[in-house]
Amino acid sequence: MQVKHKRIYFTLLFYLLLNNCSKDIYIDECSTYDHLTTIDTLKLNNKILILGIDGFRSDAFQPNITPFIHSLSNKNTFLNLMHKTEEDTYSGPNWSSILTGVNFQKHGVDDNTFNGNFFKTYPSFFYYLERNFQNINTASIVNWDPINENLLSSDVDFFSENMSTDSLVFQFANDMLLNENPFNADVIFVHFDELDAAGHAYGFSKEIFQYRETLSTLDYYVNNLYNIIQNKRAAGENWLFILVSDHGGDGFGHGDYNNPHIRNTVLLLEHPNMSFKQDKKTNQTDIAPTILEFMGLSSSEFDCKKDGSSILK
Ligand SMILES: [Zn+2]
Repeated sequence: MQVKHKRIYFTLLFYLLLNNCSKDIYIDECSTYDHLTTIDTLKLNNKILILGIDGFRSDAFQPNITPFIHSLSNKNTFLNLMHKTEEDTYSGPNWSSILTGVNFQKHGVDDNTFNGNFFKTYPSFFYYLERNFQNINTASIVNWDPINENLLSSDVDFFSENMSTDSLVFQFANDMLLNENPFNADVIFVHFDELDAAGHAYGFSKEIFQYRETLSTLDYYVNNLYNIIQNKRAAGENWLFILVSDHGGDGFGHGDYNNPHIRNTVLLLEHPNMSFKQDKKTNQTDIAPTILEFMGLSSSEFDCKKDGSSILK
């Protein structure tokens, strides 16, 4: 009897799993519906700077290591030091989820090769912005080229290539914001990779000199870029500032989702007067919906596909 029941149970489970898989078909339908897009004209000139720091372990968010970033928590911010990574804790799946708003089971990136991705079905938030705003200028400046090569190069107006150090990334972003070179950007994604490299080489820990020093240098870059945004705000521009990481780390890697130092990472949003859902337990897929809402774009296609939800109140 026991065995028979078990068999029925497993048959049922198998049926449920099969049925779940049919969700894929349902999700594909998101692309074929007649879609409704609305634009909030009051938000037409909103702008966003997204800073991505690869491998930012949450307990290194300390006033003595990241004095500037830490000081932002005294401003009007949403801060989550338990921001959740994908269960697949590589960089590829996590940056993909941050940029597309869907989990890795949908966008299909489960390692750093980006092979087998479904970005045609689940494009980045930049794709939706570019498709709906005629004059928007978008840019992606990254140290880790695969993000641009596999995902963003087809979605943004400007994408960097072969930018092999964080210093170059910083200088380029700085120049773009200060001197409108090559254009006056509205939405910019900037990615720094050297903290992750320091973690892999020396250890992901605030006790490790090289990890700490790299983070302090990034804190300096963040401070500089933020100051430019502050000047633009003073001149009347409405900027949302976002800082996010793909994963934490422990020892020399970041493969184990069950390790809280790996699966918990840093998310910080800052704006002079927006209200945030302060109790929200955020994950990577919440960034893209937040960006589209701040930019005033409501797309029924994106809403049909997305896994996350906006952090704005
Ligand atoms: Zn890594």
